[in-house]
Amino acid sequence: MNVIVSSVRRALALPAMLLSTAAVSSTPPAAPPAAPPAITAVKAAHMVDVRNGALIDNAVVLVSGERITAAGSGLAIPPGANVIDLGDKTLLPGLIDAHTHLTGDPQDAGYAIVAKSIPRSTLTGAKNARVTLNAGFTAVRDVGADGYTDIGLRDAINDGDVPGPRIAAAGPAMGITGGHCDDTMHAPQYGITGLGVADGVEEALKVTRRNIKYGSDVIKICATGGVLSFGDDPRTSQYTLEELKAIIGDAHRLGRKAAAHAHGGDGIKLAVLAGVDSIEHGSYIDDEGIKLMKEHKTWLVPTLYLGDWLIENAEAIKLPKPLLEKAKVVLPQARINIGRAIKAGVPIAFGTDAAVYPHGLNAREFAVLVKLGMTPAQAIRTATVNASELLGWSDRIGTIEAGKFADMIAVDGDPLKDVTVLERVRWVMKGGAVVR
Ligand SMILES: [Zn+2]
Repeated sequence: MNVIVSSVRRALALPAMLLSTAAVSSTPPAAPPAAPPAITAVKAAHMVDVRNGALIDNAVVLVSGERITAAGSGLAIPPGANVIDLGDKTLLPGLIDAHTHLTGDPQDAGYAIVAKSIPRSTLTGAKNARVTLNAGFTAVRDVGADGYTDIGLRDAINDGDVPGPRIAAAGPAMGITGGHCDDTMHAPQYGITGLGVADGVEEALKVTRRNIKYGSDVIKICATGGVLSFGDDPRTSQYTLEELKAIIGDAHRLGRKAAAHAHGGDGIKLAVLAGVDSIEHGSYIDDEGIKLMKEHKTWLVPTLYLGDWLIENAEAIKLPKPLLEKAKVVLPQARINIGRAIKAGVPIAFGTDAAVYPHGLNAREFAVLVKLGMTPAQAIRTATVNASELLGWSDRIGTIEAGKFADMIAVDGDPLKDVTVLERVRWVMKGGAVVR
């Protein structure tokens, strides 16, 4: 049915498209009388109450269609329900990674990306979407992809063509000419500019609106230099306050959130003052930045585990030397500064920058957060309640509660004692369907 509808739509000329919805819906197929929705009961020895950081024993979650209808300890299982008994496992809400690049791989670092086509990157995304879902991440925010590959991937997942997490996608990240989100690998005669490049308020508004036109759920901005880019300095700010206010203001007015890649202290402050929803990385956050982020309730999305993997595997992925040199300076410093931000109470949402390291290893970030002073319960909250709020999806995901999507995972052991059990997810359900 969907295939027929979409091919009909594709075949119609543009003016006729306006009529196509009415034309298609006026001839619905004869539907069978609606049967009462089947109930699935998921049973497990324990369940993590992520809001309160407590373990609930004898857990039962009732699922109807895509949604949870009831959850608690020892709930009665309705007769005729399909029972999934997970034995001694511990249930949690599906995890959320607020910073991925599903359509990229570590091997794409540096000049390797030049030879990779947009269709090839999209298929990389299909592979990584499955890997990420199987690792227990049932939702991600994908913050920057060339050629709108992440948006194509999101739509393919939503249409049921390929398995993967729910995706809030950014499309091409916005940035200044020569900045972290421009293409700075080519000599001038090639005339290559990144798709998200926009200078000045007028261009910034144009590109914000173009991204939204082509499907961006969130606007990603490169507010400072970066690590894995040539010729820029992570400590310097790139957009001006005026440009940031224009982009973020427009994104908000059009119902989108905005995320700012920012390492340097000045870029962090400018983005926060311009009203950004989250600071990504935050490597050089200082006391003033910490204070501002707390005042503005701006989320910080640290991406710290990547440093370990990148420095260990730099040779294997042929990371260009200037990028490795930057990584060696910035990433250890980031841990110190982020540790201070965590202790000071800056709101934290979970993110990994997976693509810099292999997708599927996302849960290794939890142990770093705990090392920097979080309790396991706080670390789990960053990837559930907090990340769902940052995505604007707290009405549908982030906890195991009636009315929410039945996105759940199960692990061995007690993640409130040892967060590393989340690196070995045993069972995954997304939208009421068991995917692993
Ligand atoms: Zn990133």
